[in-house]
Amino acid sequence: MAKNLDELRAVVRANGLRATPSRLAVLELVRASDAPVSHGDVADRLASQGWDRATIYRNLTDLAEVGLLRRTDVGDHVWRFEAVNAEHDAAHPHFVCTECGTVECMPQIELAIHRVKAPRAVKQRQVEVHVRGLCDACI
Ligand SMILES: [Zn+2]
Ligand SMILES: [Zn+2]
Repeated sequence: MAKNLDELRAVVRANGLRATPSRLAVLELVRASDAPVSHGDVADRLASQGWDRATIYRNLTDLAEVGLLRRTDVGDHVWRFEAVNAEHDAAHPHFVCTECGTVECMPQIELAIHRVKAPRAVKQRQVEVHVRGLCDACI
């Protein structure tokens, strides 16, 4: 735990941000989560710490600006955040349940886009792929 905290502190500082307790807690929480989390999710889970929601939001956006988190909108106009690290590096598709709204990370899939006429952004993978359907709990 202490080692983990030292590592978080070093990563945050290496990206030019102050390693405040709330910022470290936000980064730790998003990194520990296996699906993208919204500002509301993070604020609820850290509610017992007494930080206000605006502080937590600022931490999320600061961490996203320096590239430690990625922001994604799966189409419901809610920003969700996920950690950018080795196993979660490249932009990957997200599954969105059309019934309960659950968002899950999907493995990277290869689109055969080299064969088709597609906008440059698609060819350069600067797009987000969202897969919609019913999750296991809703099917
Ligand atoms: Zn569902
Ligand atoms: Zn993801």
